[in-house]
Amino acid sequence: MEESLKTYEEYFSQAVEVRMRHYEKEGRLQHVMLSHQFSISLMEELFDIADHVKEMTRKPNGIEFLKSLLCHKKAMLYFTQPSTRTFLSFLTACQMVGMDTGEVRDPSLSSEYKGESQEDGVRVFSSYFDMIIMRDPKPGFCEYMAYLLDSTGRSVPIMNGGSGKDQHPTQALLDLYTMHRSFQKTGGIPKKRYAFVGDLLRGRAVRSSVMLLSQYKDVEMEFIAPSSFQIAADLEEYLLSQDVNIHKTDNLESVISSVDCIYMTRIQDEYDLSGESNLIDYSKYSLTPDNVSRMKKNSIILHPLPRRHEISPEVDADPRAMYWRQLRNGVYIRAALLLYVFNVAHRLKEY
Ligand code: ASP
Repeated sequence: MEESLKTYEEYFSQAVEVRMRHYEKEGRLQHVMLSHQFSISLMEELFDIADHVKEMTRKPNGIEFLKSLLCHKKAMLYFTQPSTRTFLSFLTACQMVGMDTGEVRDPSLSSEYKGESQEDGVRVFSSYFDMIIMRDPKPGFCEYMAYLLDSTGRSVPIMNGGSGKDQHPTQALLDLYTMHRSFQKTGGIPKKRYAFVGDLLRGRAVRSSVMLLSQYKDVEMEFIAPSSFQIAADLEEYLLSQDVNIHKTDNLESVISSVDCIYMTRIQDEYDLSGESNLIDYSKYSLTPDNVSRMKKNSIILHPLPRRHEISPEVDADPRAMYWRQLRNGVYIRAALLLYVFNVAHRLKEY
């Protein structure tokens, strides 16, 4: 007898390891849902592809060649939660490898307005497109959609472009790619001290990046936040189970001169229930030319952006400020991921 479809709750009562198995096909990633899916070796493979892509975009015939690789594929960008960078970065990455794109950003202009469920909408996209790139405020929505689509027998790869407070795996990949490139001359990602500053409870970028980073040898992590926005208990438990050396504090000054990387974040007040963000003095969690001058010479500053006041614009000119470069790296690593998922990255050698 055929197994009946699991409800949302039943689906998420399964362990992450069980769910992850659904997201692979013939030994490679089919759906990109969670940071957990990226091992160090897969990340390094993607970093190499991204380096190649970056190099090729410097020459007109490289640009032409890249465009030929996926000119037979189409991607749907379904972004029902606000986005500037991730949306444009995916769009640019698709264009870079020749993919045509469609988009829905405002559900009130789609048939959802007429009462169509999001599930049916996603099923429509899978009939017209070869991939769905999706951002949604509900944690786990992309995962559940991947499961439902697989059960229809007409599945196309889904990429998670940010799912509520939960996961943002491609942000994590671009963060790690930036660390990898920045630390190329100083021994790479392992054996360094990383500080994460700001709203660590609700920021999905930190959550996802920390999970990737925890796989590297001897990394230390400092979490700097007001106590009400410190990392969630499940993330702390996960890091401890991975034997990561972690410290929590609300004092940025106490660590600023000893870390190799500071990852800044904004307050995620869109998730406030009753204005809890207004109670925080955020100036204590900010970078200015004054405190940046106490950072190590070869250290780096990252930020997933958008920023508000947590990094003063005067810091942008400091050679340690990597966040604009981080943003550009996002396009290369997302293009790399598209080439990988459609299994054409090996064709880069033909160029
Ligand atoms: N752009 C990142 C995200 O979508 C970070 C942020 O919004 O603060 O999670």
